[in-house]
Amino acid sequence: MEGTSAGAPEEHRCVRCGTAYLPFRRGVPCPSCGVPSTSESGIVPAVLDAYARNLRDTGRPIPLTIQVATLWDDYLYRGLFFLKAVDGRRPRESEGSVIARMVEIPNGLNGGAWRAHVADFYRELLHVRRRSAERTK
Ligand SMILES: [Zn+2]
Repeated sequence: MEGTSAGAPEEHRCVRCGTAYLPFRRGVPCPSCGVPSTSESGIVPAVLDAYARNLRDTGRPIPLTIQVATLWDDYLYRGLFFLKAVDGRRPRESEGSVIARMVEIPNGLNGGAWRAHVADFYRELLHVRRRSAERTK
């Protein structure tokens, strides 16, 4: 599928340093150089939709087999595993400690700035999910 992904809406590269990452909301700083994104990818609603749809259709939030082929998939499954961990956490465990636990899972994204980026992504998922739950009340 080389070539077909170029220019796809989920593709984003930092305008200054070219690092590929997903701006999960407008103004997310590049994890490499800190320049804020000027665009926004639809990854947060995509994760929330996939989570709800998987639960409804299969009774589990994450498919039995997953394939992480793109950066988009990486964020998508990271988000699904995070929401599963939050919803399945022990009663006395806070969302913040789940975030702290999940960002320590080894992955291809190294460095403190990437960990902060992923933690910010997790907080954004919770924030948007809470906001949409309030809207539908
Ligand atoms: Zn950058």
